[in-house]
Amino acid sequence: MTVIADLARPLFFERNVTLSHGLRTKSAFDLALYPAMGRRDVGVLIATVIGVVEFIDGEEQYEYEVYKKKFPDLVAPASQFFNPAFPRKWGAGEKQVFISEGNAIVSRVWSGRHILTPSNDMTEMKKIHVQVDCHLKQGWGLHSHWNVAVKKYPPFYKTRSFVRAGTAGAIDNGEVNLNMIDIYPEDLGGPTKFVTIAHEFGHVLGMRDEYLEGTVPADVPWFVSDTASIMNRGNVVRPRHYVLFATWLDKAFRNGTLLRGLTPGWRVGEFPPFTTVANAGIG
Ligand SMILES: [Zn+2]
Repeated sequence: MTVIADLARPLFFERNVTLSHGLRTKSAFDLALYPAMGRRDVGVLIATVIGVVEFIDGEEQYEYEVYKKKFPDLVAPASQFFNPAFPRKWGAGEKQVFISEGNAIVSRVWSGRHILTPSNDMTEMKKIHVQVDCHLKQGWGLHSHWNVAVKKYPPFYKTRSFVRAGTAGAIDNGEVNLNMIDIYPEDLGGPTKFVTIAHEFGHVLGMRDEYLEGTVPADVPWFVSDTASIMNRGNVVRPRHYVLFATWLDKAFRNGTLLRGLTPGWRVGEFPPFTTVANAGIG
């Protein structure tokens, strides 16, 4: 079911939201709550992430040297790296594909996965849907949250994509470092295929890593066996990945006018067991 936000009637809106849990990750995006079109009991929470993309061309010799250092027993000749079938310069079409696919993947994977519900009758809004709108774009605008650098590596060149948080867009943007191939699904041994850009934008939304790095948890230790999870090796957004949105609703409703003398307690799920920031285990 598609629920459409009534954009003419915003209830709450905040720019440069920072919803962090744990120490490593700082989110940065805008959040706005709207009623669904024609409804008072259903809402749509829209998270808007704006990233300014810089496309970085590959540097042939440098890449080959770095690769040789990393893998001393490399047998592939330099000629394979300097394959004319894989030009190191970004083409205009390739940039367009990266931006449109990246926006589509992040928005699709992170939107509409779970419903947020209130724990009491504090509001007539009984269900809130979540919509994540990713806006990767080229060129500076007045308002953005992340600087997204996308390097063009050859397909066989394994790189490490990562997110470094800034100050939530208020003063300086965080950094997202990606590879051209990050919009394509990869099999990392989980039951669902992993798409790097969708995972990295999980960090942008405030989530931490859940996978095992060798035998050691890379970050939070409680979900290392949940390899289907998007913050692990798969592509599934779990209820725990929506609890930070619930914490923002708590704050918005506490400060808002929709209260009926009750303490707000937004949670993820329509039926028990509900997921809350207290039991999500993401910290
Ligand atoms: Zn990660």
